Amino acid sequence: MFKLRTLPYDTTAFGKFLSEEAFSYHHGKHHKTYVDNLNKLIKDTEFENKDLFFIIKNSSAGLFNNAAQIYNHDFYFDCLSPKSDESKMNAAFKTALEKEFNSLSEFKTEFIKGASGVFGSGWFWLVYDLKDKKLKLLSTPNAATPITEEKVPLLVADVWEHAYYINHRNARAAYLEAFFEYVNWEFVAKAYEWALKEGEGSIQFYINELHS
Ligand code: FE
Repeated sequence: MFKLRTLPYDTTAFGKFLSEEAFSYHHGKHHKTYVDNLNKLIKDTEFENKDLFFIIKNSSAGLFNNAAQIYNHDFYFDCLSPKSDESKMNAAFKTALEKEFNSLSEFKTEFIKGASGVFGSGWFWLVYDLKDKKLKLLSTPNAATPITEEKVPLLVADVWEHAYYINHRNARAAYLEAFFEYVNWEFVAKAYEWALKEGEGSIQFYINELHS
Protein backbone atom coordinates (compact mmCIF):
# COMPACT_ATOMS: atom_id res chain seq x y z
CA MET A 1 0.00 0.00 0.00
CA PHE A 2 1.31 3.38 -0.96
CA LYS A 3 0.70 6.35 1.31
CA LEU A 4 0.21 10.00 0.44
CA ARG A 5 3.38 11.83 1.42
CA THR A 6 3.16 14.64 3.97
CA LEU A 7 4.20 18.16 2.97
CA PRO A 8 7.42 19.46 4.56
CA TYR A 9 6.17 23.01 5.26
CA ASP A 10 3.40 25.22 6.57
CA THR A 11 0.86 25.44 3.73
CA THR A 12 -0.37 28.84 4.96
CA ALA A 13 3.07 30.41 4.31
CA PHE A 14 2.98 30.89 0.52
CA GLY A 15 1.39 34.34 0.30
CA LYS A 16 -0.46 35.04 -2.93
CA PHE A 17 1.29 32.20 -4.77
CA LEU A 18 -0.79 29.37 -3.27
CA SER A 19 -3.31 29.45 -0.43
CA GLU A 20 -3.98 26.79 2.16
CA GLU A 21 -7.12 25.93 0.19
CA ALA A 22 -5.03 25.38 -2.95
CA PHE A 23 -2.75 22.95 -1.10
CA SER A 24 -5.70 21.19 0.48
CA TYR A 25 -7.16 20.50 -2.98
CA HIS A 26 -3.93 19.83 -4.85
CA HIS A 27 -2.29 17.66 -2.19
CA GLY A 28 -5.27 16.51 -0.15
CA LYS A 29 -7.54 15.64 -3.09
CA HIS A 30 -5.71 15.41 -6.46
CA HIS A 31 -2.45 13.90 -5.20
CA LYS A 32 -4.33 11.65 -2.77
CA THR A 33 -6.61 10.35 -5.53
CA TYR A 34 -3.59 9.12 -7.53
CA VAL A 35 -2.39 7.22 -4.45
CA ASP A 36 -5.84 5.72 -3.79
CA ASN A 37 -6.26 4.76 -7.46
CA LEU A 38 -2.83 3.13 -7.66
CA ASN A 39 -3.50 1.07 -4.53
CA LYS A 40 -6.73 -0.21 -6.12
CA LEU A 41 -5.11 -0.90 -9.51
CA ILE A 42 -2.12 -2.90 -8.21
CA LYS A 43 -4.19 -5.16 -5.98
CA ASP A 44 -3.76 -8.81 -7.04
CA THR A 45 -1.42 -7.92 -9.91
CA GLU A 46 2.29 -8.46 -10.53
CA PHE A 47 2.85 -4.89 -9.25
CA GLU A 48 1.32 -5.42 -5.80
CA ASN A 49 4.63 -5.61 -3.92
CA LYS A 50 6.82 -3.61 -6.29
CA ASP A 51 8.29 -0.22 -5.50
CA LEU A 52 7.00 2.94 -7.16
CA PHE A 53 10.02 3.40 -9.46
CA PHE A 54 9.61 -0.15 -10.80
CA ILE A 55 5.90 0.41 -11.42
CA ILE A 56 6.55 3.68 -13.28
CA LYS A 57 9.23 2.06 -15.45
CA ASN A 58 7.26 -1.10 -16.26
CA SER A 59 3.55 -0.21 -16.44
CA SER A 60 1.27 1.49 -18.94
CA ALA A 61 -2.18 3.10 -19.27
CA GLY A 62 -4.07 3.86 -16.03
CA LEU A 63 -1.57 2.14 -13.81
CA PHE A 64 1.31 4.17 -15.24
CA ASN A 65 -0.70 7.42 -15.13
CA ASN A 66 -1.48 7.10 -11.43
CA ALA A 67 1.99 5.88 -10.42
CA ALA A 68 3.76 8.61 -12.41
CA GLN A 69 1.44 11.30 -11.05
CA ILE A 70 2.32 10.25 -7.49
CA TYR A 71 6.02 10.75 -8.24
CA ASN A 72 5.50 13.96 -10.28
CA HIS A 73 3.53 15.53 -7.41
CA ASP A 74 5.91 14.25 -4.71
CA PHE A 75 8.74 15.95 -6.55
CA TYR A 76 6.81 19.13 -7.36
CA PHE A 77 5.87 19.71 -3.71
CA ASP A 78 9.53 19.30 -2.72
CA CYS A 79 10.54 21.94 -5.27
CA LEU A 80 8.56 24.53 -3.28
CA SER A 81 9.53 26.32 -0.09
CA PRO A 82 8.08 29.29 1.80
CA LYS A 83 11.71 30.27 2.50
CA SER A 84 13.12 30.33 -1.02
CA ASP A 85 16.78 31.31 -0.96
CA GLU A 86 18.96 31.44 -4.07
CA SER A 87 22.11 31.57 -1.94
CA LYS A 88 21.39 27.97 -0.83
CA MET A 89 22.39 26.62 -4.25
CA ASN A 90 25.62 24.68 -4.14
CA ALA A 91 28.48 25.88 -6.36
CA ALA A 92 28.36 22.86 -8.68
CA PHE A 93 24.73 23.48 -9.62
CA LYS A 94 25.16 27.25 -9.94
CA THR A 95 28.09 26.75 -12.31
CA ALA A 96 26.21 24.17 -14.41
CA LEU A 97 23.12 26.38 -14.62
CA GLU A 98 25.15 29.41 -15.71
CA LYS A 99 27.03 27.33 -18.26
CA GLU A 100 23.79 26.25 -19.92
CA PHE A 101 21.61 29.36 -19.47
CA ASN A 102 24.12 32.21 -18.87
CA SER A 103 22.46 33.41 -15.69
CA LEU A 104 19.74 32.48 -13.20
CA SER A 105 17.63 35.30 -14.56
CA GLU A 106 17.88 34.01 -18.16
CA PHE A 107 17.10 30.52 -16.90
CA LYS A 108 13.90 31.76 -15.24
CA THR A 109 12.84 33.59 -18.39
CA GLU A 110 13.35 30.47 -20.54
CA PHE A 111 11.61 28.25 -18.00
CA ILE A 112 8.56 30.53 -17.78
CA LYS A 113 8.40 30.82 -21.58
CA GLY A 114 8.57 27.05 -22.01
CA ALA A 115 6.09 26.30 -19.22
CA SER A 116 3.64 28.91 -20.51
CA GLY A 117 3.66 27.19 -23.89
CA VAL A 118 2.75 23.69 -22.71
CA PHE A 119 -0.50 22.87 -24.49
CA GLY A 120 -3.20 21.51 -22.18
CA SER A 121 -2.25 19.60 -19.05
CA GLY A 122 1.32 18.65 -18.27
CA TRP A 123 4.59 19.44 -16.58
CA PHE A 124 7.63 21.60 -17.28
CA TRP A 125 11.01 20.37 -16.06
CA LEU A 126 14.65 21.17 -15.59
CA VAL A 127 16.45 17.82 -15.87
CA TYR A 128 19.96 16.41 -15.91
CA ASP A 129 20.23 14.20 -18.98
CA LEU A 130 22.33 11.16 -18.05
CA LYS A 131 23.05 10.39 -21.73
CA ASP A 132 24.91 13.59 -22.60
CA LYS A 133 25.40 14.97 -19.07
CA LYS A 134 23.65 18.26 -19.77
CA LEU A 135 20.99 20.36 -18.06
CA LYS A 136 17.86 20.61 -20.21
CA LEU A 137 14.38 22.13 -20.17
CA LEU A 138 11.54 19.96 -21.39
CA SER A 139 7.80 19.45 -21.07
CA THR A 140 5.87 16.24 -20.57
CA PRO A 141 2.16 15.86 -21.36
CA ASN A 142 -0.42 14.61 -18.86
CA ALA A 143 1.25 12.11 -16.49
CA ALA A 144 4.42 11.54 -18.52
CA THR A 145 7.66 11.88 -16.56
CA PRO A 146 11.33 12.25 -17.56
CA ILE A 147 12.37 9.44 -15.20
CA THR A 148 11.41 6.87 -17.86
CA GLU A 149 13.96 8.41 -20.26
CA GLU A 150 17.21 8.42 -18.27
CA LYS A 151 16.72 12.01 -17.24
CA VAL A 152 16.99 13.05 -13.60
CA PRO A 153 14.46 15.73 -12.54
CA LEU A 154 15.91 18.79 -10.78
CA LEU A 155 12.95 21.22 -10.84
CA VAL A 156 9.36 20.92 -12.01
CA ALA A 157 6.31 23.15 -12.38
CA ASP A 158 2.91 21.47 -12.45
CA VAL A 159 1.06 23.22 -15.28
CA TRP A 160 -2.18 21.29 -15.02
CA GLU A 161 -4.87 23.91 -14.45
CA HIS A 162 -5.73 22.25 -11.11
CA ALA A 163 -2.30 23.46 -9.85
CA TYR A 164 -3.14 27.15 -10.15
CA TYR A 165 -6.84 27.70 -10.73
CA ILE A 166 -7.83 28.45 -7.11
CA ASN A 167 -5.37 31.38 -6.75
CA HIS A 168 -4.66 32.45 -10.33
CA ARG A 169 -7.75 31.30 -12.24
CA ASN A 170 -6.64 30.70 -15.83
CA ALA A 171 -3.54 32.96 -15.60
CA ARG A 172 -0.76 30.38 -15.94
CA ALA A 173 1.91 33.05 -16.51
CA ALA A 174 1.08 34.78 -13.20
CA TYR A 175 1.33 31.41 -11.42
CA LEU A 176 4.73 30.76 -13.00
CA GLU A 177 6.09 34.21 -12.08
CA ALA A 178 5.03 33.62 -8.47
CA PHE A 179 6.42 30.04 -8.60
CA PHE A 180 9.94 31.45 -8.80
CA GLU A 181 9.48 33.34 -5.53
CA TYR A 182 8.98 29.96 -3.82
CA VAL A 183 11.49 27.58 -5.40
CA ASN A 184 13.46 25.44 -2.96
CA TRP A 185 16.89 26.02 -4.54
CA GLU A 186 18.63 23.97 -1.89
CA PHE A 187 16.55 20.93 -2.89
CA VAL A 188 17.07 21.57 -6.62
CA ALA A 189 20.85 21.93 -6.27
CA LYS A 190 21.05 18.81 -4.10
CA ALA A 191 19.12 16.82 -6.71
CA TYR A 192 21.84 17.84 -9.19
CA GLU A 193 24.63 16.86 -6.82
CA TRP A 194 23.05 13.42 -6.29
CA ALA A 195 22.40 12.99 -10.02
CA LEU A 196 26.14 13.50 -10.66
CA LYS A 197 27.08 11.00 -7.96
CA GLU A 198 24.44 8.31 -8.32
CA GLY A 199 22.78 8.80 -11.73
CA GLU A 200 19.46 6.99 -11.97
CA GLY A 201 20.06 5.60 -8.48
CA SER A 202 19.36 9.07 -7.10
CA ILE A 203 15.75 8.83 -8.41
CA GLN A 204 15.30 5.41 -6.84
CA PHE A 205 16.72 6.70 -3.55
CA TYR A 206 14.39 9.73 -3.55
CA ILE A 207 11.32 7.59 -4.21
CA ASN A 208 12.21 5.01 -1.58
CA GLU A 209 12.76 7.71 1.05
CA LEU A 210 9.10 8.72 0.58
CA HIS A 211 7.55 5.33 -0.13
CA SER A 212 9.33 2.53 1.67
FE1 FE B 1 -1.12 18.55 -10.04
